[in-house]
Amino acid sequence: MNQAPKIGLVSLGCPKALVDSERIMTTLRAQGYSFSRDYAGADIVLVNTCGFLDSAKQESLEAIGEALNENGRVIVTGCLGVEEGLIRETHPSVLAITGPHQYESVVSAVHDHLPPVPNRFVDLVPESGLKLTPRHYAYLKISEGCNNRCSFCIIPQIRGDLVSRPAAGILGEAEGLIRSGVKELLVISQDTSAYGVDIKYAESKYRGRDVKAKFYDLAKELGQLGAWTRLHYVYPYPHVDQVIELMAEGLVLPYLDIPFQHASPNVLKSMRRPANQEKTLDRIKKWRDICPDLAIRSNFIVGYPGETEEDFEFLLDWLEEAEIDRAGCFKYEPVTGAPANELDGIVPDEVKEERFAQLMEVAQDVSFHRLSQKVGRTIDVIVDDVRPEENRVIARSKWDAPEIDGQVIVSKADGIKIGDIVSVTVTDNDEYDLFAEPAAH
Ligand code: SF4
Repeated sequence: MNQAPKIGLVSLGCPKALVDSERIMTTLRAQGYSFSRDYAGADIVLVNTCGFLDSAKQESLEAIGEALNENGRVIVTGCLGVEEGLIRETHPSVLAITGPHQYESVVSAVHDHLPPVPNRFVDLVPESGLKLTPRHYAYLKISEGCNNRCSFCIIPQIRGDLVSRPAAGILGEAEGLIRSGVKELLVISQDTSAYGVDIKYAESKYRGRDVKAKFYDLAKELGQLGAWTRLHYVYPYPHVDQVIELMAEGLVLPYLDIPFQHASPNVLKSMRRPANQEKTLDRIKKWRDICPDLAIRSNFIVGYPGETEEDFEFLLDWLEEAEIDRAGCFKYEPVTGAPANELDGIVPDEVKEERFAQLMEVAQDVSFHRLSQKVGRTIDVIVDDVRPEENRVIARSKWDAPEIDGQVIVSKADGIKIGDIVSVTVTDNDEYDLFAEPAAH
């Protein structure tokens, strides 16, 4: 099985450098890297240096030397990185050197010398997200591994059972990200609603208070940090209701990414999906009563072994009734080592294709209908890209995650910058996107 590539990190210097180190770690962790506490267990060592005083320079050079002796594969970043000549003269064998506050360059140097192992059956970050995340949003990984045993999935075999991070560590990291300019936190894990189960919801001290490692408590704390907080990979358990209340209060974005994968009870049972006994349609209705603005994004698998025409029709009806705002779809394909490979009832490829096209058509109609209800509203959007030549910016609403959902295309957008959160009035929509203009003041 492919193990996650491991990185050792030595962080020297001031709190700013520490924020950079956190940002680097957050990005790499979200991309599937793991961290080693010692040199021996690391595939590569990053040294985040300080170059403010001569003594700090000396300390940094010594730290690079130690990492080279102990491990041999070293990337240097941070303030001393501006003195590349000095570093190369002292330590010619370092693999790469980048300067301060250049987390993007460090991460790409890591990609060059220790490539990530992209695997769409395992990764949490969308493939396109492996390119560097812009500074205004960041993926925040709250746990590793998974306690579920879905029959089509090999993640528990690769990553093991759920291992949750203490709440204080996650909150400290989130704070650091916000200090470094992040305005939107994308919370990821294999099963976000299961957060803390493995450590019995243990408390940890954060800003002098005890915070439980529990989904609700963590969401609430993150929501109070002042950035947009978006929750991915949640399952429809009863305790999620409470988190919807946080959305209604505006603390957490009114957005839930729930990979339902199917709706037919027979298929869900065969897939061994978490929360497959829950009455999800009732649950979704309840959530929308609590928070009418809630957007649900989901993914579905068509052509799973044993999926009958009735199962598929059931799924299409369910999708319409649940009004899933954003739906992605995969045609089932076996993953080496997954228990589902033993199942009978293989669905022919042409049937998979047909079901895929049908599902996407229904999903598109639902999406169009949901988006048309937003026309005329004034909403906040976060800006991902600017197109000055067209006087437009490409932004996202609270209902859209980066890379996987739609966009809000804002015209008459003079002076708006990447990372700005601005108020716009929605003027039109198509199947996936909204069109808007800055709101009148
Ligand atoms: S919830 Fe299921 S699909 Fe997701 S990681 Fe766990 S076992 Fe795999």
